[in-house]
Amino acid sequence: MRIVSNSIEGRDIAYQMHPNVNLRKYEKTGGLVIESGDGIYVTDNNGKRYIEGMAGLWSVALGFGEKRLAEVAKAQMEKLPYYHTFSYKTHGPSIDLAELLISIAPVPMSKVHFTSSGSEANDLACKMVWYRSNALGNKDKKKIIGRIKGYHGVTIAAASITGLPRNHESFDLPLDRMFHTSCPSYVHFGKDGESEADFTARILNDLEELILKEGPETIAAFWGEPVMGAGGVLVPPAGYWEGVQAILKKYDILLVADEVICGFGRTGKMFACETYNIKPDVLIVSKQISSSYMPLSALIMNDAFYQPIADESDRIGVFGHGFTASGHPVATAVGLENLKIIQERDLVGNAARLEEKFLGRLAELAKHPLAHSSRGVGLIGALEIKPWGDAKPGDAAAAVSAALEEEGVISRNIGEALCFCPPLIITAEQIDDMFDAVGRALDKVE
Ligand code: PLP
Repeated sequence: MRIVSNSIEGRDIAYQMHPNVNLRKYEKTGGLVIESGDGIYVTDNNGKRYIEGMAGLWSVALGFGEKRLAEVAKAQMEKLPYYHTFSYKTHGPSIDLAELLISIAPVPMSKVHFTSSGSEANDLACKMVWYRSNALGNKDKKKIIGRIKGYHGVTIAAASITGLPRNHESFDLPLDRMFHTSCPSYVHFGKDGESEADFTARILNDLEELILKEGPETIAAFWGEPVMGAGGVLVPPAGYWEGVQAILKKYDILLVADEVICGFGRTGKMFACETYNIKPDVLIVSKQISSSYMPLSALIMNDAFYQPIADESDRIGVFGHGFTASGHPVATAVGLENLKIIQERDLVGNAARLEEKFLGRLAELAKHPLAHSSRGVGLIGALEIKPWGDAKPGDAAAAVSAALEEEGVISRNIGEALCFCPPLIITAEQIDDMFDAVGRALDKVE
């Protein structure tokens, strides 16, 4: 029999297998136990308070104590805690939210399909791309192009489109229909002496070469986050999205924009597609759709995407896909209320107004001897830390992130990037508090 320490940390180590950790390391160190949250702050089980500089997982737009979401969830639980959207049944909350999403979508869209996570939504979008190609008689048009450092989730297709080795290794991924083109991060992939414009032209050329090598008639879709999040907050260079879209148009390739992180205000517009003038065929949203108070995601698709799929379901007799929780009434009711609050309080405008302050403070921190550079847009940004001496890749940012946690700010270190993506309700003073602490953490580590 195992001896289990009766502390909460001990029981966690004993019984829970965590995502996205070194499991052996976790068995020794355990994790930080977060007990409660309020506004941009969370508090651990020892009573220590932290600024949640990552809004949880890039997601808690409204902060951690929004009573209206709790009230709506309770009311919906009491009225209709569960119903499905299968087999010719439906319900009000899913209809209301679908209607709102269509009304605010960045380009004319036709239909919304609900799922519960970003991975599910991307996985389903991939299945739908294949289903649609079959519907159109394009049986060989199935390949998908993602990008190096792109992140689209962890289910089999979503992880395959993802361009991060850690999500492939030992999982026997990616699927062999998935390809990865160059990452648009000039900081990481620009060559010595290469201008940003030359870099952009080079990676656009890489995309076109890949399409021509594989055969344009075999490529169904291109997948991209307008700003890459989990790859380390990688902001595209000027002209990148215009160039990508021109190539996709030339070769009749669909564009799936994954706004799981960017959607609902993060970049200072309701959608990052507006920030970068992206016109997707399918838009994937999650996270800030419900401030992650309930698991919820959605595919928002245009009519040209939807119609062949509807025809194919008619030919087969059914669209043979659906999750028990698709359009869950409590999740969609919470999502609807969450988006109403984002609109009422103009939190998209808050992100736009605070962008200068947020990026300005990051740029100041980039002058620190341990920092290399900074980047970002709206209220998402990163400080690139200089690797020192014989430190292993990622160690430098990990050390700063740990020191910052001691200073009372939760950040996320990805490679050498120290990432920030605070709740959209953050104020200018709170941005100062957060980045003052980063300055102290850098001094401590130095
Ligand atoms: N797509 C993007 C852009 C993401 O950032 C994430 C998660 O961080 C996902 C998809 C996967 O979402 P989930 O973790 O809800 O499956």
